[in-house]
Amino acid sequence: MIHLKRPADIEAMKEAGRVSAKALRKTGELVRPGISTLELDRFAENLIRMEGGIPAFLGYNGFKGSICSSLNDQIVHGIPSRDVILKEGDILSIDTGAIVGGWVGDNAATFAVGHISKQAQRLLEATEAAMWAGIEAACPGGNLGDIGYAIQHIVEGAGFGVVREYVGHGIGHAMHEPPNVPNFGKRGNGLKLKAGLVLAIEPMVNAGSGATRGPYDDRWTVFSADNSLSAHFERTVAITADGPLILTKE
Ligand code: MG
Repeated sequence: MIHLKRPADIEAMKEAGRVSAKALRKTGELVRPGISTLELDRFAENLIRMEGGIPAFLGYNGFKGSICSSLNDQIVHGIPSRDVILKEGDILSIDTGAIVGGWVGDNAATFAVGHISKQAQRLLEATEAAMWAGIEAACPGGNLGDIGYAIQHIVEGAGFGVVREYVGHGIGHAMHEPPNVPNFGKRGNGLKLKAGLVLAIEPMVNAGSGATRGPYDDRWTVFSADNSLSAHFERTVAITADGPLILTKE
């Protein structure tokens, strides 16, 4: 069942969004060669708690981190580890979520570790651009397929592959609520978009094919099937009468 949020709910969700956004920005600023993803995780957890939030991912279905840290060909759900040390030329997707006042915020971005290849840079730019196009399509009167179409159009136009097995989602008191928000689709298809829908819009894009493999032994980390680089950008967005409103914002 889809829970439409009242304007007061959307207002209240801004604080969870603010903390999630600050955690993502500040953790991203620490990304550099030589740092471990566990250090990034500890920093993010501390920041979220200092800001009055609870890390939304920690303990979620048994997840052991406060962030997801997905390196290079890892698409999503990478587990922070002291053994994963960033190197020059890597790309790292960081996903942060915070619960404040019973509401959840969720956002992600992919960061360059030092100097990265031209292809990696293009992948990051296309994925972020696709996210913004998806957000722009999140307007009352439109359809869910408009969001997916906008994202897919940019990703495939850049020659990259949309991940189809993992999708965006509704968000509110729970991190994952209906509806699913695919990063592909047809204009005019799917659920009618209404004011009060709050969605996590999050393209996951592979430099090669969009196919995935895993998770394996750690039960979480998802990889691109062809080992190509993968990027992920996400914002929590409320659909309002005036159009899309970003909630994961400082
Ligand atoms: Mg999400």
